[in-house]
Amino acid sequence: MNTKILKPSDSAYTYPLLIKRLLTSVQRVENRNQIISGSQRFSYRQFNERICRLASALRAQGIGPGDVVAVMDWDSHRYLECFFAIPMIGAVLHTVNIRLSPQQILYTMNHAQDKLVLVHDDFLPIIEGIQGELETVKAYIQLSDVDAPVTASFITAGEYETLLARADSCYEFPDFDENSVATAFYTTGTTGNPKGVYFSHRQLVLHTLTMVNSLLSRNADVPLLNHSGVYMPITPMFHVHAWGIPYAATMMGVQQIYPGRYEPNKLARLIREEGVTFSHCVPTILHMVLQSDDASNTDFSKWKVIIGGSALTPGQAEQAMFRSIDIFSAYGMSETCPLLAITRITREQRDLPFAEQVAWRVKAGVPSDLVDIDIWDANNIPMPHDGKSVGEVVARAPWLTQSYLYEPEKSAELWANGWLHTGDVASIHPNGCIEIKDRIKDVIKTGGEWISSLTLEGMISTHPGVQTVTVIAIPDEHWGERPCAMVIARNAECTAQSILDHLQQYVASGAINKWAVPKEIRIVAEIPTTSVGKIDKKRIRSQMT
Ligand code: AMP
Repeated sequence: MNTKILKPSDSAYTYPLLIKRLLTSVQRVENRNQIISGSQRFSYRQFNERICRLASALRAQGIGPGDVVAVMDWDSHRYLECFFAIPMIGAVLHTVNIRLSPQQILYTMNHAQDKLVLVHDDFLPIIEGIQGELETVKAYIQLSDVDAPVTASFITAGEYETLLARADSCYEFPDFDENSVATAFYTTGTTGNPKGVYFSHRQLVLHTLTMVNSLLSRNADVPLLNHSGVYMPITPMFHVHAWGIPYAATMMGVQQIYPGRYEPNKLARLIREEGVTFSHCVPTILHMVLQSDDASNTDFSKWKVIIGGSALTPGQAEQAMFRSIDIFSAYGMSETCPLLAITRITREQRDLPFAEQVAWRVKAGVPSDLVDIDIWDANNIPMPHDGKSVGEVVARAPWLTQSYLYEPEKSAELWANGWLHTGDVASIHPNGCIEIKDRIKDVIKTGGEWISSLTLEGMISTHPGVQTVTVIAIPDEHWGERPCAMVIARNAECTAQSILDHLQQYVASGAINKWAVPKEIRIVAEIPTTSVGKIDKKRIRSQMT
């Protein structure tokens, strides 16, 4: 194509999209909103100064462009400072998944080639156990929430606050190539070793701008978050940068609450006492918060919540809406930074009866700005967006990981035919709304039919006695596979027979056929979850076979 490209003036400034650009002049003069973490409260002016101090401290430890710095912390103001200072000096932030096993943590730290580790007191025992096998780490900085930190059994460069207090409060952050790697972390829930994904400055800046626009515009008349809102993430900062929303909230200069280790009572108390208006989490965390003792005297009516990472069932959405929570869904994955889609609630949908609103709120939303989403059949042929045809979700956006870290073969699979393959199956409605049907690996193949485990979970979730449900395939001699449901009961109404009776209405209406009715329903006390709090179907399957 003969597009016209003109040579810029030699003296023109090309403006690389770097993370430092998210620290706008707006929040430098912000003097009302703060960043709050435990007993600490910082103004945005102090936050900017602390980023400079952290950058100076990192340089003093010999960290420079291209070096990888690992962080092992609960969600805190320190983590937010690392989100900025580490990439802003040209280094790479590795957010370590502290819920993995020590052997998996060791694998990820060696694979990422971590040079410096910032480690919270609570995770010192993990480092003590694997320290001898860490191949590239040269130094450690201790992170502590108490005045008298525990003494590590290995040599550290010192404690974070002490190092910051000594460090220079001025730092001139340089310009460099916007395609430089800014962050890296490892996906969970896969077979074999975790896979590394990574994102550049340019990708994170574009992701942040789109996220800000989504937060401002996705909810009819009422932004999900704006300058007068109070933000508290409850998606761990180690997992996909807490969906990148801390970057957006910082750029907007809003009041931010970092809750430390997630304890349901503490989370409910923070929502109440700090007047939190916006959070995001996986369904199990929302459930834990709503079941906590502190939830009973907490008014949730100002709280907007985006649920992602797993499907939000209609039953869960109804429970949240009964508590007056304004609830939304979002869709994405580690490989996609993660934003692909968020529910858009129009003015007309807000006026719909409760049950009809729920139906829109639990779908995965419409693609975000700059995101292309399609569904393809097994031969890579695009399927119609008619709300019925089902295919694999493929995506393109400016912020998708360009490959798995040092894994060319898996990367080629991920990017087959120039689109990122999500491994999810979905239909797309004529209004653009995506309805995730399942992970390809979780679909139940019974006879010649495919049954969506998410559809069945959604139906079972509306039984009044059901608290949590998951559906997996179990082998069946005759049909190949049949569904098996595991249910945590909310009350005594919840029996296997009553769930079977409840499902008959969907069989009668033709929404499912009779083979989709689970062969087995187990009422259980607990359902295993992954390191990021999602229901762990892989583990359930392996326990059952
Ligand atoms: P992870 O990479 O661990 O964040 O997991 C990403 C996966 O979570 C996606 O590929 C989906 O299977 C699932 N997921 C994320 N958001 C949703 C959603 N809104 N509805 C259904 N599944 C979701």
